[in-house]
Amino acid sequence: MTPTLQGHTSYHSHSRWSDGRKSLTEMIRAAEAAGLDEYGVADHFVLTPDRQPIDWSMPLDRLEEYVTEVQAAAAQAASTVRLGIEVDFFPETVAEVVARLSPYPFDYLIGSVHYVDRFPIDSSADDWRPLSAAEVNEKHRLYWVRVAELARSGAFDFIGHLDLGKKFACYPSVPPTAEIQTALQAIAEGGLAVELNTAGWDKPCAEAYPAFELLQRCQEAGVPVLMNDDSHSPRRIGGHYERGARLLRAAGYDEVVRFAGRERTAHPLVIPGETAP
Ligand SMILES: [Zn+2]
Ligand SMILES: [Zn+2]
Repeated sequence: MTPTLQGHTSYHSHSRWSDGRKSLTEMIRAAEAAGLDEYGVADHFVLTPDRQPIDWSMPLDRLEEYVTEVQAAAAQAASTVRLGIEVDFFPETVAEVVARLSPYPFDYLIGSVHYVDRFPIDSSADDWRPLSAAEVNEKHRLYWVRVAELARSGAFDFIGHLDLGKKFACYPSVPPTAEIQTALQAIAEGGLAVELNTAGWDKPCAEAYPAFELLQRCQEAGVPVLMNDDSHSPRRIGGHYERGARLLRAAGYDEVVRFAGRERTAHPLVIPGETAP
């Protein structure tokens, strides 16, 4: 029997408002069936510097409708439903994004880097294949530069899939050690949390984001953590949570955070299936 996910939350989840497969109501029902304490939807909001429409983003002019639908679904749900959003970070548009989001009562904003300049990090392995070793190194390096900028922007509550560059198992021959260190420092100084994103276990990289070593470094730097599934369909909600919780504990974490009205609170880390002391 799958253990109940009581004591857990799922805050990074996509509905048909962006690239998820099901309606918000269907996702909420699945979260309730899984036994989660809280479910938060975080559909994509992508404002690129050249303002090209992105097909996996919500339509930017329908932000208000998105918020209204989440609020209505939350009011009807038997469980706690949070209003989140996954924002693509671009240094050129972050100020405008903040201004567009500021009228709405979000519980949390996820900051994610899916592009370095125009290069899509996580859309297809085919984007990586033609790159030379030096180009691969440069994409990874730039990714971490963007993560540091995201952290310094002060716009977000937590960072999505911290080491996304590894998704297609296309690793740098020379890891950007200095840039990673700078980014982790910026995250700690910026007071952001990071997510343990369990979806990575189902990708070619075959491990959660971030990797264990990075998770340990976050823990040592006092960076708070939360666990998310990045689900795009009901059956992915709470995926790999037991494994994820054990990984968090092994990295030294004994608390996870939750968000309400962009305020953060800490809660004990629960291992699914393990009886409480
Ligand atoms: Zn993402
Ligand atoms: Zn996502």
